Amino acid sequence: MSLQVFGIPVSRGVAIGRAVLVASSRVDVAHYFISPAQADDEIERLRQARDLVAQELSNLQRDLPADAPAELSALLDVHLMLLHDESLTGATKVWIRERHYNAEWALSAQLEVTARQFDEMEDAYLRERKADLEQVVERLLKALTRTEVDPRSGLAAARDFAGEDPLVLVASDIAPADMLQFKSSVFTGFVTDVGGRTSHTAIVARSMNIPAVVGAREASRLIRQDDWVIIDGDAGVVVVNPSPIVLEEYRFRQRQSELERARLDRLRHTPAVTLDGESVELLANIELPGDAQEAMKSGAVGVGLFRSEFLFMNRDGQLPDEEEQFEAYRQAVQAMQGLPVTIRTVDVGADKPLERMSAQELRHEHQLNPALGLRAIRWSLSEPAMFRRQLRAILRASAFGKVRILVPMLAHLSEVRAVFDEIDRARRQLDDRAQSYGPVELGAMIEIPAAAISIDLFLQHFDFVSLGTNDLIQYTLAIDRADESVAHLYDPWHPAVLHLIAMTIERARAAGRHVSVCGEMAGDPAFVELLLAMGLRSFSMHPARIAAIKQRVLRADASRLAQRLPQVLQAQDPAAQAKTSFNTAF
Ligand code: PEP
Ligand code: MG
Repeated sequence: MSLQVFGIPVSRGVAIGRAVLVASSRVDVAHYFISPAQADDEIERLRQARDLVAQELSNLQRDLPADAPAELSALLDVHLMLLHDESLTGATKVWIRERHYNAEWALSAQLEVTARQFDEMEDAYLRERKADLEQVVERLLKALTRTEVDPRSGLAAARDFAGEDPLVLVASDIAPADMLQFKSSVFTGFVTDVGGRTSHTAIVARSMNIPAVVGAREASRLIRQDDWVIIDGDAGVVVVNPSPIVLEEYRFRQRQSELERARLDRLRHTPAVTLDGESVELLANIELPGDAQEAMKSGAVGVGLFRSEFLFMNRDGQLPDEEEQFEAYRQAVQAMQGLPVTIRTVDVGADKPLERMSAQELRHEHQLNPALGLRAIRWSLSEPAMFRRQLRAILRASAFGKVRILVPMLAHLSEVRAVFDEIDRARRQLDDRAQSYGPVELGAMIEIPAAAISIDLFLQHFDFVSLGTNDLIQYTLAIDRADESVAHLYDPWHPAVLHLIAMTIERARAAGRHVSVCGEMAGDPAFVELLLAMGLRSFSMHPARIAAIKQRVLRADASRLAQRLPQVLQAQDPAAQAKTSFNTAF
């Protein structure tokens, strides 16, 4: 039966494909594709995990005290029976062989199927066995973590064997790190139950340049494995099992947006200059060093934000050492062929945990209020050895090209001083080792309202500033950027937000400092005229957005826009006023 699910559009375009469900188990597991050649090894891991759990359960049974109730032993019997039941492990092997899922993913996919069968049972006793099955699967998943393999090994080949039909990813929630694994994967679109427009999962999805809808609440419950799904990333609509007429309509739109993309691609090498001759710098946001190639291809004139924290995620407590980081930064710097690369020091915490964990889990269990907690520079300064390791690696990479260091989430002068001390110390350590490094410019992210309000302080100390509008909006409006239930209140047009942005740009320009915007606003065509009017001449965004933004820049008259800015800033409804004053359609 055809149905529609509504959510928040986060990445434009239309995707049509078969649903691949990433189940959300209580034990958060890795999801990745393996190559057909790895299937035997994966099944062997599953067998080993099953033997481990069988052993655990038998030991438990053996060690039961003599006065333990008889039901306990009977329950363990049920668990052992479920463990050896072919409908669980046999079917899981099919997911591994035919769908090329890793063992954990295959097991949680099978749990979903079997759990639904239990739900539909008439017999109450049997229905209640679902909880037992979940416990057994949880034990198996835990046992599998003891036999873990490197997920990255299978990803590159995934494209070649995922089957004929295009695939779309449907999940309750996807951690940013998992999203990154899917980046080099086969999906042509994705939809999640949770998340907001600028949640980090949405940002990574946007960087994959595939249509996506988040915050679609019930999607992962309503959509079943293999359903045909249309993801309308412009409207935030997901159509499940569409009728032939609807499907044809969307296929037409899909072709249209591909043509539009091809047309924009032709602007790649055109310099971004406004009608009145103002040059505008369009930079790329990247997550991994390999993305630098994409940045070059898009016509970016540098990297305005390298989110280095993605190098630190999902490493089982083994953070990258100085050499590994140095290689990663050098790779990005060299790939940019002399163009500047802005490396942001690690920004973990909040919805970017170091270890795999869903945002929901993080919110509820691990910190009281993660967005206000120990994240970004606060975390770095609490781990000085780790911070210096990163600084040394970045400084060393600066011998290979133009490098800028960007520090996230600053608010206090004491933090500024601590950062400068650490940089001095890192330089001295390199001097002691006689290792070379180049000159670097130092920048502060302005993403906490306190930093914007005291912008002059930051301009005195730093060579440049970069506005992190994603967080600036979150903290100004007290809206969790990852929470879909308040997504409607996440409003970049709020007068208070505009005031802070305009003030930061104006002061930075007056002080002769380079100022850029690297939040999602910079890659959203709706804000190009507004930011140009405010005097912004440097925008940093996902490479895929550059052509569309360039098109708007080429059609803009910066001085005319600047004259009309006061009308917009003073309006009660700046979004409506901007449409009239700037005479633009969003
Ligand atoms: C921002 O906050 O706008 C930003 C660019 O950083 P991040 O999205 O990684 O928090
Ligand atoms: Mg930020």
